[in-house]
Amino acid sequence: MEPAGAPPRGCAPAREAEEPPGSPALPAEEPQGGGGRAARRPRVTVDSSKAKTSLEALKISLRQLRWREFPFGRRLPCDIYWHGVSFHDNDIFSGQVNKFPGMTEMVRKITLSRAVRTMQDLFPLEYNFYPRSWILPEEFSLFVDEVRMMKDGDPSWKPTFIVKPDGGCQGDGIYLIKDPSDIRLTGSIQSRPAVVQEYICKPLLVDKLKFDIRLYVLLKSLEPLEIYIAKDGLSRFCTEPYQEPTLKNLHQVFMHLTNYSLNIHSGNFIHSDNVNTGSKRTFSSILCRLSSRGADVKKLWSDIISLVIKTIIALTPELKVYYQSDIPAGKPGPTCFQILGFDILLMKNLKPMLLEVNANPSMRIEHEQELSPGVFENVPSPVDEEVKVAVIRDTLRLVDPQKKKRKDTQCLLDPAIVDCKLQLKIQIEHGMKDKQHKHHSLKLSLKLKFYLKLGSCQTLEHVPEASEEPLGAGPAGRGDGDTPRSPEAGLPSLCLKQVFPKYAKQFNYLRLVDRVAALFIRFLGVKGTTKLGPTGFRTFIRNCKLSNSNFSMASVDILYIDITRRWNSMGNDHKESGMCLQAFVEAFFCLAQKKYKSLPLHEQVASLIDFCEYHLAALDEKRLVCGRG
Ligand code: ADP
Repeated sequence: MEPAGAPPRGCAPAREAEEPPGSPALPAEEPQGGGGRAARRPRVTVDSSKAKTSLEALKISLRQLRWREFPFGRRLPCDIYWHGVSFHDNDIFSGQVNKFPGMTEMVRKITLSRAVRTMQDLFPLEYNFYPRSWILPEEFSLFVDEVRMMKDGDPSWKPTFIVKPDGGCQGDGIYLIKDPSDIRLTGSIQSRPAVVQEYICKPLLVDKLKFDIRLYVLLKSLEPLEIYIAKDGLSRFCTEPYQEPTLKNLHQVFMHLTNYSLNIHSGNFIHSDNVNTGSKRTFSSILCRLSSRGADVKKLWSDIISLVIKTIIALTPELKVYYQSDIPAGKPGPTCFQILGFDILLMKNLKPMLLEVNANPSMRIEHEQELSPGVFENVPSPVDEEVKVAVIRDTLRLVDPQKKKRKDTQCLLDPAIVDCKLQLKIQIEHGMKDKQHKHHSLKLSLKLKFYLKLGSCQTLEHVPEASEEPLGAGPAGRGDGDTPRSPEAGLPSLCLKQVFPKYAKQFNYLRLVDRVAALFIRFLGVKGTTKLGPTGFRTFIRNCKLSNSNFSMASVDILYIDITRRWNSMGNDHKESGMCLQAFVEAFFCLAQKKYKSLPLHEQVASLIDFCEYHLAALDEKRLVCGRG
C-alpha cells in the first residue's frame, strides 16, 4: 500500500490554464484541420486540482493528448476528475472520476485477504496465488492451531511468516517471525490489526537479489467488467543479496523487503539511469533476461493475467455494494475507472504470487537524490516516467468521452442503420396498405431497434470475441480501443491491453459471489445503504422460497442475528447497523450447504444461486402480469 502524498515539489500548476473566477467558461476547444474557418472540436476537460503526487505525470499526459487541464478546478463541470486519493476527494455529480468508491477500503490488507479467502473457499486451486493468511488479532488462536497441525503433519516444514499491519504502507511495521509465539501481541496488534502470512522463502532472484513487480491495471468499468493490463511495469530490487530466512537474518529488511521507500536508504541502492539496470528497472527488461535464460515468458504472462483477473473478480462483489451506495442507479452521478497497482512476487519456479493491491499506486516520476550529505534534490526518474506517463495517458485515451461520442455518432451513420431507417421512412410515407406491409415495417423497426441497442457500433467495428486469442499471448500485441481513423494516430500504440471481457469465457464461472452480491443489493431496500436489515433478510428468504418445515422463520432470524453480530464485532465499520455483504455471503454459504449436502462448496453455492434467481424471476414475471392486469 502506498501513502497519499502531497503535491510534488517544484510543480506549481500552470497559471495560464486557470479559468478566471466569475468569467464565462473559456472555450475548451481546439481547431480541427488547418486553421481558417475549420470546425472546432471541443477539447476534453480534466480537473487536476486533486491529483496530488500524480500531477506531474498527468500534466505530461494531458499535454501529449492536447486536452484541457483545469489545475484549480472549474466552475462548469469537467469531463474527467483526476483524484489523488479516493472517490471522495471532491463531490462529483457528472463526468468520470479516476477512483471507485470503496476501493481504498477493499484493498486494505485485511479486506483483501478476506475477499480472496472467500474465493479460496470456493475455488482453492484457482486462488492458490495468494499466500495463506490469518487476520490478527481475531484469528490468532486459529493461526497457532493450524500451524501446529501442519507442523505435526510434516515435521520437515520450517515455515517463516510475515506480519503486516492493516493499512500499513512502504514496509512500515512489517516483521518476519519463525513461530506464532513470536508475534508481538502486546499493545500494537490489539490497537492495530494485522495480517500474518506465509512468507515466500524461495523467490526468483536476479543478480542474487530479491525483487518484486509493480504492474498497472486499469479497471475501466465494473458493470460490465472491463480490465486492462499495462504491457510494462516496474521491478523493485532489494539491496542486499538474498538468503533464505534464518533467525539471524530475519531482521535484514534490505534482504527481505523490496519496498523502494526502504531500500533507497541502503548504501547499495543504485538509481537507474536506464531501464535495464539499477534498483528499479522495467519489468520488460527482466522478461528479456528470463527469456534469454530459456524461461517460458508467454506462460508467465498468462499466469499474471489470470492472477489479475481472479483478484479483481474477488473484489468486485463488495465494490458493487459501495458503488450502488454512493452512486445509486437512476440518479445522476459520475462513472468511475481506476488504475490499480498490483504487487507481485515471482517464485523460483516462475509462479506469480500476489502480495498486495494498491488503490493509489505511486505515479511520481522523480526521485529524491542526495547530492551531498544532507542535501536532497528531486531528479527525474526515466524508468518511472517511461512506464507511468504511458499508463496515465493511455488510461485517458481509453476513457476518452469524445471517443465514446464519436462511436455513438458513427453508429447512427452506420450504413446498415441508415438503410434500415430509410426503408422504414418509405414504408411509413407510402402508408401501410396491407398486412404484408405492416409485417415488413414491424420487421424493419425491430431490426433498427436491434442495431441501435448494439450501441457500441458493432456493425461497424470488429469486436473481438471473448477468448479469441489464447491467454498465453501476453500483452505485447496491438493495444485495444484505437481505430485506424482515430485522431490520436500520432501517439504510440496503447500500452494497456484488454484482458476482460476478452478472456471472459475462461473466468466467468468464478463470478459466483458477484451473483450473491446482486441478490444482496436487490434486498438492501433503501438506496445508499450497504447493510441489510432483518426485514430485508426475511424478505430474501421468503421471496426465494428458502424457508420450509426444516428451516423456520425463527431459525432464519437466529441465523441473521448470529452472523451479523459476529461480523459487526470484528469490522471497523460501525457507522451502519445490519448485515454486511461478507456476512450475507457467509449466511448464503450456510444455506447452500444445508440444502445441497453432498456437493462441493462451489456447486452448492451455484445451485442455490440458480434456485434463488429462478424464484425471483418467476416473482418478477408474476408482478408484471398482475401489474398489467
Ligand atoms: P507494504 O504495503 O507495507 O509495502 P507489502 O505487502 O507490499 O506491504 O509487503 C512489503 C514487502 O514485503 C513486499 O514488497 C515484499 O518484498 C515483502 N513481502 C510481503 N509479503 C510477502 C510474502 N508473503 N512473502 C515474501 N515476501 C513478502
